[in-house]
Amino acid sequence: MKFVSTRGQAPVLGFDDVVLTGLASDGGLYVPESLPTISEATFRQWQSLPYDELAIEVMWPFVEGSMPRERFESMVRDAYGSFRHSAIAPTKQLSHDTWLLELFHGPTLAFKDFALQLLGRLLDYFLAERGERGVVMGATSGDTGSAAIEGARHSEHLDVVILHPYQRVSEVQRRQMTTVLSDNVHNVALKGNFDDCQAIVKASFMDQAFVSPNRLLAVNSINLARIMAQTVYYIYSGLRLGALDREIAYSVPSANFGDVFGGYLAKQMGFPIAHFTVATNANDALVRGLRGDLSRKPLEKTLSPSMDIVVSSNFERLLFDLHGRDGLKMAQVMDSFQTGAVQLDDSVVNQAKALFSAHAVDDDQTCATISRIFEETGELIDPHTATGVDALQVTPDGMTKVVLATAHPAKFAEAVEKAGFDEVPLPSDMTDLLEREERYTVLENDLDDVQSFVRSVMG
Ligand SMILES: *Cc1c(COP(=O)(O)O)cnc(C)c1O
Repeated sequence: MKFVSTRGQAPVLGFDDVVLTGLASDGGLYVPESLPTISEATFRQWQSLPYDELAIEVMWPFVEGSMPRERFESMVRDAYGSFRHSAIAPTKQLSHDTWLLELFHGPTLAFKDFALQLLGRLLDYFLAERGERGVVMGATSGDTGSAAIEGARHSEHLDVVILHPYQRVSEVQRRQMTTVLSDNVHNVALKGNFDDCQAIVKASFMDQAFVSPNRLLAVNSINLARIMAQTVYYIYSGLRLGALDREIAYSVPSANFGDVFGGYLAKQMGFPIAHFTVATNANDALVRGLRGDLSRKPLEKTLSPSMDIVVSSNFERLLFDLHGRDGLKMAQVMDSFQTGAVQLDDSVVNQAKALFSAHAVDDDQTCATISRIFEETGELIDPHTATGVDALQVTPDGMTKVVLATAHPAKFAEAVEKAGFDEVPLPSDMTDLLEREERYTVLENDLDDVQSFVRSVMG
């Protein structure tokens, strides 16, 4: 498969280069030049496949040409072998017509494991093929950092440096990162806030030569391989819940639009998803964006912190399609958005409305939903998932509804306690997390200090 930039000016790349590149050189994001259309008969044949075998079938058209099929097959089986549930992505019934799709059975208890378990292995393979080493650099306030570390801890050709704000992440979240003692994993506690961490990572990507001859790599959700891995669980759950024979809608707790874009790609490949509901917290950039209003609001800290964002990076991928895949037009829209607010054309908004609804859920409503679902079903859901459940009120009637359960409630104790519940126990293999040995380096909020540290740890 070939990949093109949403802004039309960057080179067309193959899969291996897209995985290693991240952001396109014109500032755009890579998307497939065209997608295979999969027939209904093929989907029916896939109904009996276990998760990893389905994942191989769905993803192979993206990967083909960049590695031998057998190599990819073993990589996928290995990536999902670390999950705690044998179904990998099980569904659980919440009511007559509503299901939860549980995406928190991976090593770090959030859906980001689905992509990052695979991405770590893909990067390692492509670097080995080229005889190169890479340094993954990222900033985290939570889920991404630990998932990236777990995904790369066994990589031979990769170092991982993750910055988190010193004393400003929860103990569980910090320990999920700092208790991984692999030689290639390096945690930095930066004396600053999350924005300071991000600013240093961003400045480092503007100055990639500082890691030369190694390659600097990003594993945030602009990496197309992450989206690709996220198409699989829509198809897997949809096949289990009868999507080929009835209308099915997905409600997706959203921030950077990466997760829901995976479902959108599944639909573009011919899988019959009737509707998507985009759920946000008070940081409602996507609710406004789907109404055609591209604008920025100050960040609000919420009880669903993994959805606290100002700008939704992957939304550009949808906008590219809604603008007839016109890269130059997209470059204009994004240039204007760089300097202020943009109102999108009616035709764009109407196309979006045909497939997406959106709803912002505040913290009170999030807690009320956690309580209500517990009363109705005995299930304790996490605050991100709760936004997805509450947003079902804007999903069209009459469809089978699936809410993506993006994290395990034990990860987000604050919201669960505010909703009136005792602390939720961690899964049994993690109960000693609070006693495990930690390793991290505290650094000043200074670009040179961080860059020297990165150079000193490179293998
Ligand atoms: C990252 C994350 C989200 C948001 O996903 P996007 O792909 O950014 O839309 C939602 N819930 C949890 C638990 C997350 O970690």
